[in-house]
Amino acid sequence: QGRNATWRAHVRSVDLWVLVTMEDRTAMTDAGEMRRDFVANVSHELQTPLTAIIGYIETLQGPARDDATARTRFLERMGVEARRMSRLVSDLLALSRVEAQERRVPTGEVDLVAVIAAASETLSSMIELFGADMNIRGAERPVMLAGDAAELQQVFTNLIENALKYGGDRVEVTVAPADPVPELRRAGVVVEIRDNGPGIDPLHLPRLTERFYRADSHRARDVGGTGLGLAIVKHVVSRHRGRLKITSTRGEGSTFSVILPCGH
Ligand code: ADP
Repeated sequence: QGRNATWRAHVRSVDLWVLVTMEDRTAMTDAGEMRRDFVANVSHELQTPLTAIIGYIETLQGPARDDATARTRFLERMGVEARRMSRLVSDLLALSRVEAQERRVPTGEVDLVAVIAAASETLSSMIELFGADMNIRGAERPVMLAGDAAELQQVFTNLIENALKYGGDRVEVTVAPADPVPELRRAGVVVEIRDNGPGIDPLHLPRLTERFYRADSHRARDVGGTGLGLAIVKHVVSRHRGRLKITSTRGEGSTFSVILPCGH
């Protein structure tokens, strides 16, 4: 007990980081078992909104048939649930597309700075709604690399969106090309997405990129997360032969670093 408390105090005091490699926990479990788990998870994630929608329909056909207020409210709720299902299905499609391409290194020429700007642009109304202070540094000149622009845009959209949803009120994105990047031992670029939120418990860090893994499931449900965002990020980054590094300090915030090879 005492030792445990000391250990916990120790891990809280340091800036914890975990390097998410391709050989994570999921990769080591049996493939058949993984598939069964995945199908069970998807079924559960779809069943929850469907059950709610069916409930609203039955209420509107029965007891609330002539209740105009209930109709407005329930239609709104049904819209929320249907959009949740739609997000889940599009994330599942994105994940399966990138998994199917995993072995093929993308060859298109991409300006990473433009990709990050486009990702932040698609989130501009959310940034405004949250009243967040968002900054991008190191974006003065293009950073060219071989990649898939649409997939990389999804990576930065997911990470910036998470920083807004789970973070505080400040998001800082830093683009830093280097030759060499220590994690890759070759020329590359490090993109850091840093938030000033409550941080992530060290216990969750190694499992965060697993499909449907949520550090705080209530919060994730409230903010409409599918639980697939970081799994997509991990697959896209590994297809680009890059690394994803997650560091978090409780009470101070989290930093998600995407490290990609490029020709510097
Ligand atoms: P979701 O769709 O639930 O957001 P993700 O795969 O994107 O799924 O993220 C998995 C979990 O990681 C989230 O549910 C959340 O608990 C945690 N998480 C992700 N980003 C952050 C962050 N910036 N700060 C704190 N927690 C985070």
